[in-house]
Amino acid sequence: MTKHIFVTGGVVSSLGKGLTSASIGLLLERHGLTVKMQKLDPYINVDPGTMSPYQHGEVYVLDDGSETDLDLGHYERFTHSPLTRDSNYTTGQIYLSVIEKERRGEFLGKTVQVIPHITNEIKNCIHKLADDETDVVITEIGGTVGDIESQPFLEAIRQFSLDAGKENCLYIHLTLLPYLRAAGELKTKPTQHSVGMLREIGVQPDILICRTEQEISHEEREKIALFCNVPLESVIEEKDMEFSIYEVPIALREHKLDELIVSKIGLPKNEPNIDDWHELLHDMRNPVHEVNIAVVGKYAEHKDAYKSIYESLDHAGIRNRAQVRIVPILSEVIEQEGAERLLSGFDGILVPGGFGNRGIEGKIQSIKYARERNIPYFGICLGMQTACIEFGRNVIELEDAHSTEFERNTPHPVICLLDEQKNITDKGGTMRLGAQPCILKDESQAKQCYEAEEISERHRHRYEFNNQYRQQFAAHGMEVTGTSPDGMLPEIVEIPDHPWFVAVQFHPEFKSKPTGPHRLFNGFIAATVERRKIRGDNEPKPEAWESLLD
Ligand code: GLN
Repeated sequence: MTKHIFVTGGVVSSLGKGLTSASIGLLLERHGLTVKMQKLDPYINVDPGTMSPYQHGEVYVLDDGSETDLDLGHYERFTHSPLTRDSNYTTGQIYLSVIEKERRGEFLGKTVQVIPHITNEIKNCIHKLADDETDVVITEIGGTVGDIESQPFLEAIRQFSLDAGKENCLYIHLTLLPYLRAAGELKTKPTQHSVGMLREIGVQPDILICRTEQEISHEEREKIALFCNVPLESVIEEKDMEFSIYEVPIALREHKLDELIVSKIGLPKNEPNIDDWHELLHDMRNPVHEVNIAVVGKYAEHKDAYKSIYESLDHAGIRNRAQVRIVPILSEVIEQEGAERLLSGFDGILVPGGFGNRGIEGKIQSIKYARERNIPYFGICLGMQTACIEFGRNVIELEDAHSTEFERNTPHPVICLLDEQKNITDKGGTMRLGAQPCILKDESQAKQCYEAEEISERHRHRYEFNNQYRQQFAAHGMEVTGTSPDGMLPEIVEIPDHPWFVAVQFHPEFKSKPTGPHRLFNGFIAATVERRKIRGDNEPKPEAWESLLD
């Protein structure tokens, strides 16, 4: 019988529910359990694919091509849970499915209502993950208790325990204990209210995980336990981690959360081994190198917009024993201030994916700077397309070369729409999406990194390198080193005559883990460490961007 853990959040958003859920998943796996993870999001968009990164942060793409919430990135980085379309449902998807059933006449003349039809649909989405091979399904409910749009989800998880049996369900509520400096106290009232709201709709949390800046005293824990109707040992402290998010599972284990969960839910207790995570943190704390990486993008000021890229850089930093200082730079600022002023002092430059014209020229200027100064360059998706535009314009001298995404009538469309995209008008879920095979060329940086002939990476784009220019690019020194198996879709370009210039049409950042850093990110960081060794520490520190960060 599969056990179900539901994770809800209270008091404020951005408490780190995703990270906490992923940490619970990791700890349970270390108890020898098979875990599946899932997120239910109360917004009405069918998926986050059509949302601006300002609204939602990064869109995390799975192998099967589904465009999902960025918390699924935490799930993949922390656990081995297989993730598919069934791992992320939104209100939009739930209603769409119910309405389609209604149109097909499946409700046999009944009035279709939130209870039971929407709640049944939600419960089905949870049931889908339970099978003989799965010990635990962890379902995280997005949003904050008290939001109108979360109600059907909370009602559904309440009903769920009636179907699955109370003994098979565990409710964990993540909440905040604000610290009032003036009073010198942690305040428990918002938590009491939040739990009160949950209890009003019939959900009694079994465990409270309390986010806090300060240690929770025994008296405060007693108070929370009493007012929220949970045993004292079920009030777990989750203090802010100053050093790294990878400390979270270790801290939760120190507070015995994993033992509490397995005993409450009736699963066998094993001695979990998390030595590899201790080693990871040890390596992180004791770097032997230091590198500065500029990530030049359109949403640099948004900390979640390139989440998986930042994580992947960190993973590769740990593997290379390098402290990676990541500096997000708005590409528009490069247009105003110039690449020289902002980018000198960096050991590597990365241009991530993106859509739309804003800041494109700043990206192109940054790539030119990296190419001419022999600074390691890593281009991802739009960062590959802009690298081709830059090379076309400045090396091959194809005047006004561009992508037709930005200049429909460019005389040199070095990046153009994929054939399969030409007649598509809908925006949602219609890009080239998900895992695709790619064949690597011998003697390329890519092959050296991957040490494989064929790889599989995830895609999310509509445009692609224009094959008509392939030979011309190669003749001038930019080569296609990875293609689709039929050779028709260029997936990787490189400049062999540069210390490390690799740009890829896919998104390697979705497959990097702290304990298994992505090979291209590893290669990139290794190249930046080399560059730092060659140039030494004497080069002026990048003052311009330091002021930007304040
Ligand atoms: N806008 C580009 C395209 O659609 C790049 C997409 C991306 O970077 N994810 O092809």
